[in-house]
Amino acid sequence: MFQNINQGLVNQRTQILNNESQPTIKINPNKGTANISPSIGGPFRSTTIVFNAKGTIINKPMLGNHFYSLIKNIQLDKTQTDRVYDMTIGSQNFTSHFRTLLVKVPKSNSNPLYAGNYAMIVENIDADLLALKSFERAILITIIFFWILAISIAYFLSKSSMKPILSSWKKQREFSANAAHELRTPLTVIQNQLEFMLTKPNDKILDQAEKISTSLNSVNQLQNLTGHLLTLSRADADVSQVSIQSQPLKPFFTEVISPYQDVADSQSKSLTVTIDTPGAGAFDSGLIRQLLVILIDNGLKYSPTGGNVGVAITRIKDTLNIKVSDNGPGIPDTDKKRIFDRFYRTDKSRNSKTGGNGLGLAIASTIVSQHHGKISVHDNQPVGSIFEVNIPLKSHSNHLSKK
Ligand code: ADP
Repeated sequence: MFQNINQGLVNQRTQILNNESQPTIKINPNKGTANISPSIGGPFRSTTIVFNAKGTIINKPMLGNHFYSLIKNIQLDKTQTDRVYDMTIGSQNFTSHFRTLLVKVPKSNSNPLYAGNYAMIVENIDADLLALKSFERAILITIIFFWILAISIAYFLSKSSMKPILSSWKKQREFSANAAHELRTPLTVIQNQLEFMLTKPNDKILDQAEKISTSLNSVNQLQNLTGHLLTLSRADADVSQVSIQSQPLKPFFTEVISPYQDVADSQSKSLTVTIDTPGAGAFDSGLIRQLLVILIDNGLKYSPTGGNVGVAITRIKDTLNIKVSDNGPGIPDTDKKRIFDRFYRTDKSRNSKTGGNGLGLAIASTIVSQHHGKISVHDNQPVGSIFEVNIPLKSHSNHLSKK
């Protein structure tokens, strides 16, 4: 913008020095403004003020009264000759900005107005400064707008990308706290029993059989718990080798379930088993055994004396369908989603009697995921619950299974 103005000043200087005939009105198409040169009349965008060697303005009539009154106090500074510089003219209320080029016109110039005098070409740059200012403001507003936008987007993205990390960190913390809590209970029992026995150094083992048996129960509990924790942490680390092998289905399930007939009998409960699984299927037999044990164990654990636990295993095309039903208390709808979470137990007081630690179904769910299957729980009629598992029998290969 200012380069154009400078160029305009230089052009006018050339015109003055060459004494070219200067148009009265010059339309500048780029700026849409009218330049009048040399000066005739008031404060137009471009005007020429002529000074004599003493510094007196000698073209006052050409400048017009209004413009003359504005510039009459300008001092001729001969040291500024042939330099483009800016000048501010005006009073407190009104100031005008000009870009100026002072020319020393040789005496040989044929225009008597200029010959031997100083021509000061001044161009009003108020409009340009105003445009520059509003351009600066527009840039500033745009920068601030995009800055806020960028910060908002960054904030939103970082928050949403941090969400899963924060949630898994929270789960991990809860898991450690729960594990520590579960480990502390049997350890405290063992410690109490041992401390008590130490106070009776002369007793025989028989005298303290009850204490020893209680301690052993707690040791079993600890063994169970640490086994479960190990299984889950291996699954988390994706290091649990799922060994998928094909085997005849019916003999496998019969062998896994049959010992539970005696367990049910010993608890005065019944176990109804239906196995309709022709042919062979591929899965990790150790893990599927563990899955069945967890579900049947829970069925027996939570059904009342005289209750019945039903196990139905069916092959539907290439899907293995396992249903374990009981006529226990059932699971409230609000808990149905959460019972597969680690350490989650629906009724803490009832569960403390059953001795569970809330890890069984979490492990069952992990095993089902490792086999790319689905596990769900529904209400049994009239009471109780049905755990249903569907596992595809063919979509596995013998490799490390991702959870
Ligand atoms: P636990 O070792 O406490 O049984 P699980 O993970 O196996 O842990 O079960 C989680 C919770 O789900 C249990 O504490 C119990 O409240 C509920 N639950 C599991 N199976 C049954 C069932 N067959 N009937 C009623 N509630 C059940």
